Amino acid sequence: MVGAGLAGLTAALRLTGKGYPVRVQERYPGTGGLARVVEIGGEPLEVFYHHVFTSDTDYVRFAGELGLAGEIEWLPSRMGIWTRGRLWDFGTPASLLRFGPLGLVDKLRFVVSTLLLQRAEDPAPFEDVPASEWIRRHQGSRVWDDVWGPLFHQKFDRYADQVAMVWLWRKLYLRGRSRTRSGMGERLGYMRGSFDRLTSALAARVQEQGGVIHTGDPVTRIERSGGGFTVHTRAGEHRADLVLVAAPVPDYLEIAAPLLEPAELSRLGELKATGAICTILEMDHSLTPYYWLNIADPDMPFGGLIEHTNYIPRERYGGRHILYISNYVLPDDPLLHAPKNEVLDLYLPALRHINPAFDAGWITASHHFRADYAQPIVLPGYRRLIPPMRASTPGLYLCTMAQIYPEDRGQNYAILYGERAAETILKDLGQH
Ligand SMILES: Cc1cc2nc3c(=O)[nH]c(=O)nc-3n(C[C@H](O)[C@H](O)[C@H](O)COP(=O)(O)OP(=O)(O)OC[C@H]3O[C@@H](n4cnc5c(N)ncnc54)[C@H](O)[C@@H]3O)c2cc1C
Repeated sequence: MVGAGLAGLTAALRLTGKGYPVRVQERYPGTGGLARVVEIGGEPLEVFYHHVFTSDTDYVRFAGELGLAGEIEWLPSRMGIWTRGRLWDFGTPASLLRFGPLGLVDKLRFVVSTLLLQRAEDPAPFEDVPASEWIRRHQGSRVWDDVWGPLFHQKFDRYADQVAMVWLWRKLYLRGRSRTRSGMGERLGYMRGSFDRLTSALAARVQEQGGVIHTGDPVTRIERSGGGFTVHTRAGEHRADLVLVAAPVPDYLEIAAPLLEPAELSRLGELKATGAICTILEMDHSLTPYYWLNIADPDMPFGGLIEHTNYIPRERYGGRHILYISNYVLPDDPLLHAPKNEVLDLYLPALRHINPAFDAGWITASHHFRADYAQPIVLPGYRRLIPPMRASTPGLYLCTMAQIYPEDRGQNYAILYGERAAETILKDLGQH
């Protein structure tokens, strides 16, 4: 098994549960992948902001299996949007009424069409049309230009106008099924003590069932040999009858490309994704009253401000205010690899623009993280490119974020698809 993120560990749990010996190789020093944590104020905190929605029922089910369902706290969250040089409440009916950039007719079209989208069950009408086109036609150009367009631009950069409507439809569809709304906005779920509690419990269960998890040792190459495989890692090599790669597509290609057929390689080569950089500021002041602040302004150097301690009490982090500065950047953007200080120099004036009282002296510590592969980009016709879990080489399997469709990636789906990967392998082994 390659990758000790949630998908890889979940597959390992199901396979060891059936008595199969599994070895998980992980590049990072620890488990959890994109959901891994650092310690802040003596408390673990995700390096990339995380919460779950009430529609994430597989996550909740799985947490229950590990004895942790009761540890998910469902707390109110306040959402805002920065546009036209000021902050606006966003995400509740009352806030929409007060939202200045849209006129009454635009607001009505926005509400009616969003309600219809949330009731639509069939993805087909949304799969081959860009969201920019669909929104302009059904909600009006103002809604695209002032709301969705800038948000898509922050997330998908030059692909913003091409992203398929199916991606937005499914997000709205699932949010419409979010059951716990309050006057203070949607209730979101957070694991008391961080989501790492689930990852750690999962890793421990895999080991109890006989699995081996080897961290800090990346797989460098997978080779066919003697009816099975030789898995080369930086530290050595191992024999395996079957290999499941539970990692992003570029990592899969790097270690397994010679095992794949040309048609398979060319389809995988068409899949696109953005990377992400995320800066965490520990501060002695709060920046805004919001947990989640969308930045719908192309002149701003980041796409979102997530003030974790406007959602989770800051007392848990030694009284610190914790702010994530989120920025999705394409793989060819030099900012993806820029050092922390360069990124902070770019960000700090923009933070002052949002809150004129902000002072760099508020920052008591900062951390900077990068994910080369953070978010698949779903373009029209995406369904036809989704790689199957069984590779063309018998015995080689893939479980990756790019397979998640029409839903967007998330911990819930990493677990679900990890289970599906294990089911596929068990079926091939003659088990059901
Ligand atoms: C900015 C950001 C915010 C997010 N917010 C949320 C949120 O609020 N809620 C939510 O549910 N989800 C969120 N997610 C998504 C969530 O973190 C992921 O969907 C989930 O963790 C993916 O799990 P995975 O196992 O599929 O992949 P990954 O976590 O990417 O795991 C793959 C693993 O494979 C390892 N690997 C790769 N190549 C090799 C190799 N050659 N050898 C050994 N190991 C290798 C990697 O190191 C990694 O640990 C967010 C993600 C990002 C980037």
